Amino acid sequence: MQILENQSLESCNTLHFPCRAEFFAPVRDVPELQELLAWARQRRMPVTVLGGGSNVVLGEELPGLVILNQIQGCEQIRGSGAQPVLRVGAGENWHQLVLHTLAQGWAGLENLSLIPGAVGAAPIQNIGAYGVELAQCFQYLDTCAIADGSVRRFELADCAFGYRDSVFKNDCRDEYIITSVTLQLSTSQVVNTSYAELARELQEAGIESPTPREVSDTVIRIRSAKLPDPAEIGNAGSFFKNPVVGAACYARIRAQEPNVVGHLQADGRYKLAAGWLIDQCGWKGHREGAVGVHDRQALVLVHHGGGTARELLHLAERIQARVAERYGVSLEVEPRIYA
Ligand code: FAD
Ligand code: NAP
Repeated sequence: MQILENQSLESCNTLHFPCRAEFFAPVRDVPELQELLAWARQRRMPVTVLGGGSNVVLGEELPGLVILNQIQGCEQIRGSGAQPVLRVGAGENWHQLVLHTLAQGWAGLENLSLIPGAVGAAPIQNIGAYGVELAQCFQYLDTCAIADGSVRRFELADCAFGYRDSVFKNDCRDEYIITSVTLQLSTSQVVNTSYAELARELQEAGIESPTPREVSDTVIRIRSAKLPDPAEIGNAGSFFKNPVVGAACYARIRAQEPNVVGHLQADGRYKLAAGWLIDQCGWKGHREGAVGVHDRQALVLVHHGGGTARELLHLAERIQARVAERYGVSLEVEPRIYA
């Protein structure tokens, strides 16, 4: 195992904030991970794991040991027929996995194309996009406990997946490192085009019965046109979760703003588009020194370079305060803050 001291994490987070890890180690397999955990345990150090760093906000320093998950591997373990089951190392790149499954003729992940980051982080917030969530093709995941290095398997029911949520953000927060994720895919060509923007784009392209590959290509096209590429401008995707509010709150806002975007949920509540609320408050394209709000998608906060997490979080707080004041709705930050 290779442990580096005082390592820069600037290239390990897509907001590109300068941050130094007290200790830093890449990890390539489970025994090496267990060794690293024992090393940190002996020194009573906190442990933080990173994948692609696309859903974190890093302050100037991360104390303790930062582990970069690079556990590779992608193996079809069951289901040679209609339902292939794939066990994937947590350090594999998510989008490359999506492309790999499509190349094999397997459906299930196409709507989740072009989401940055590693496979091991996907269950943390139950990644979702264009009408599909990870939970829909998830079977189980394997972990190492940070406390003692023991291995534990989490089945679907153990993960308590919700809207951009899981047990790993709640009861089991900071307790486990995910080492592999097992997914159940399909050889059928059935696709989900329920998301309005996706359906519209397919229709405009004259594609009536899209294949999974065509859905993926379309999602990639929509995303590339709308979302800032972290290689070009620092960002962590959506900075706030879409708030889900009661029917009375939705009716009140609708009376105030007849064009408000609200999606009825199974429980009778409404999911509001946080980006729309932020836009209505006049923040879209706003810039304050090194940080700002993206000019095509107000839900994405950006770092133009030379700034700090503190500046971005200050801007985020002001946005939250303004949206709360105008609509009585509180916005929850989506990325994990280490600052
Ligand atoms: P990191 O940022 O490295 O980590 C995020 C959190 O997960 C941290 O708390 C970390 O400690 C923890 N973690 C990481 N790996 C492990 C592990 N192996 N075991 C235990 N804990 C771990 N998200 C969506 O849901 N849908 C989208 O459509 C979407 N689009 C995005 C678009 C852009 C341009 C960007 C920048 C982000 C987007 N995201 C989206 C957010 C992000 O890409 C996902 O949440 C992704 O899964 C994060 O992966 P990561 O490897 O970068 O995680
Ligand atoms: P959008 O199409 O402008 O829509 C705004 C919001 O409305 C979305 O966030 C979506 O919620 C919701 N929505 C739209 N149609 C819906 C429907 N038929 N039923 C229920 N909810 C609906 O969103 P966008 O910003 O361009 O993003 C497109 C997709 O990519 C979304 O699914 C979004 O979640 C995902 N995305 C996520 C991130 C991230 O960092 N988390 C970043 C970029 C894009 P949902 O978010 O629940 O889908």
